[in-house]
Amino acid sequence: MHATLPLLKESDFPAISRGALDTLQVNLGYLCNLSCLHCHVNAGPSRKEIMDKPTIDNVLAYLGQKQIKTLDLTGGAPEMNPYFRYLIKEARALGVRVIDRCNLTILEEPGYENMAEFLAMHQVEIVASLPCYLSDNVDAQRGNGVFDSSIKALKKLNDLGYARAGSELLLTLVYNPQGALLPPSQAELEASYKRELHIRFGIQFNHLFTITNMPIKRFGSMLISRGQFGSYMQLLKESYSEDNLAGVMCRNLVSIDWKGFVYDCDFNQMLDLPMLEKRGEKMHITKLINQDITGEPITVMDHCYGCTAGQGSSCGGALDD
Ligand code: SF4
Ligand code: SF4
Repeated sequence: MHATLPLLKESDFPAISRGALDTLQVNLGYLCNLSCLHCHVNAGPSRKEIMDKPTIDNVLAYLGQKQIKTLDLTGGAPEMNPYFRYLIKEARALGVRVIDRCNLTILEEPGYENMAEFLAMHQVEIVASLPCYLSDNVDAQRGNGVFDSSIKALKKLNDLGYARAGSELLLTLVYNPQGALLPPSQAELEASYKRELHIRFGIQFNHLFTITNMPIKRFGSMLISRGQFGSYMQLLKESYSEDNLAGVMCRNLVSIDWKGFVYDCDFNQMLDLPMLEKRGEKMHITKLINQDITGEPITVMDHCYGCTAGQGSSCGGALDD
């Protein structure tokens, strides 16, 4: 049971509108092998919501017709969708760059033994959560044993060529704070991660993205239960930086849920703030295909301050980098 989040009210967040669309972020379902504390999706092993094959084909039709540059796959653990490999093969055949937002541990689960090889073979970029280079901090946020499993998976990816000198296989790590704090400097933390992971485990990666925790879903409920929701929202608002407004990710991407409905971003998806058709109905990807949404307004609420606080935050990490 999650506490009700006091976000869906009038907000003083500035009005913003869409630029050119270059990324389709697709949530393949809420099934996950983990149940992390900071999860903004409330994903977990018992979730049943999974994108079906007809909807995956709708996604592929959209990619082909609109010539979208990037397909960004999220979940849950996107690899647990039974059509994950099909989607990647077909998208790559269209020449689309594919990103897999991977929790690493799934690569070590029974039944997924050759997933890392598959991702390398199809030149899928991997963006992987690793909230610390120290075992205790990762296990506290993500569950016991997650750190060791993540390290094994990272070694496997390096062995396949990910993040190796001269290789085109890209491996990005993602850091998010342990609690109700803003992330530290992305550049400085990336340097520490590179040094520590190399010294301790011989692991290499290309970039580190720092991402601000959004005050929604599981993390939002945790803030409420600890009495920190108000102070965290105040921190996000006080740290607002106008320079980040031009770069918020919703300007250039749309987010698709497991049923094919369209949202301005993954966070709006989780708050059930869908993009609407002119008639007021939820926009489906099969309808979006006939629309030009450039210049359309984006639905903003108080959680949007999570994207503009401090150095800014997006699926591509800090905005001032
Ligand atoms: S944060 Fe990622 S790995 Fe953790 S439960 Fe959510 S979807 Fe799964
Ligand atoms: S939360 Fe979503 S809609 Fe709001 S600024 Fe961030 S990306 Fe845009």
